[in-house]
Amino acid sequence: KNMGRNNVQFFREIQGTVLDRENVLLQTRLAQAIQERQLQIFYQPVVDASTGRILSLEALARWHDDHDGWVPPDVFIPMAEHLGLIHELGEQVFEHALDRLRVWRQAGHEVKVAVNLSRAQLFAPNFVERLTGMIADQGLSPTDIILEITESVALLDVSYESRRLQELADSGFELAIDDFGTGYSGLAQLHQMPVRRLKVDASFTTRLHTEDGQRIVQAIVQMAQALRLETVVEGVENAEDARYLMQLGVRQMQGQLFGDPMPAGVCDMLLARQAAQ
Ligand code: C2E
Ligand code: CA
Ligand code: CA
Ligand code: CA
Repeated sequence: KNMGRNNVQFFREIQGTVLDRENVLLQTRLAQAIQERQLQIFYQPVVDASTGRILSLEALARWHDDHDGWVPPDVFIPMAEHLGLIHELGEQVFEHALDRLRVWRQAGHEVKVAVNLSRAQLFAPNFVERLTGMIADQGLSPTDIILEITESVALLDVSYESRRLQELADSGFELAIDDFGTGYSGLAQLHQMPVRRLKVDASFTTRLHTEDGQRIVQAIVQMAQALRLETVVEGVENAEDARYLMQLGVRQMQGQLFGDPMPAGVCDMLLARQAAQ
């Protein structure tokens, strides 16, 4: 019996070592992909559900690894953070988004772009100045840009991070709390944040087919409305959910029902079609 346990232990160790090694290789390939600018940026629309009009487009990083195929952002974003490469990655996403925004604006579209920010990015030296510099270079304004930060970041009242967020808001960026409902926000804290919008996490939307799920979403939406914040509900996959959300007074929605994340060229076409209507 003792031997058996040792064997299991031994097997686990080998397995662990193999996984570690694969992980290191993946990290190496990620570092290379970032360095060679191989990451792609897709965009997912946020629409006014009552008209179908695209209000904003959220930039989402995509990585196709030669060995493993598409690696999900939930894997490579934390990896990039761990490797200290999130600054470079974030800057590439930002550059791409600004470039597209400039093209869309020149074509007369009023859309905004949304970019996800990792907490570590707030600690980069001169972060706010760099962002505003890049925007000015493109002849754009921070008011055209939504920065999405997760609830856990936003609610820390660690003064350094709060100050950076305040600076971003003062510079004209629109701040959004991402994955709202999954963290631990108190109303009082939220009220003090320089935040204009909340994105209700998709994990709530997927439970809208149950009564409990509906009650929870209703409570979250009412909280956002009480705080006079714009509300976006994520992960809207079917018309029934969209109808229910409309009844609650939610207009801005994002999810498969309205469009998956797509290459910028496809967004160009959708925007052009919308303008022609
Ligand atoms: P997120 O910001 O909450 O992004 C929304 C995620 O929901 C995206 O996953 C999107 O593909 C997915 N989604 C969209 N519509 C639906 C739907 O109808 N149903 C369901 N079940 N899911 C839907 P994705 O692209 O895998 O991104 C995962 C997370 O990775 C993002 O979550 C974001 O936190 C992070 N991320 C992605 N790109 C970047 C980036 O450039 N920088 C940073 N810092 N984080 C990023
Ligand atoms: Ca987001
Ligand atoms: Ca989210
Ligand atoms: Ca998320």
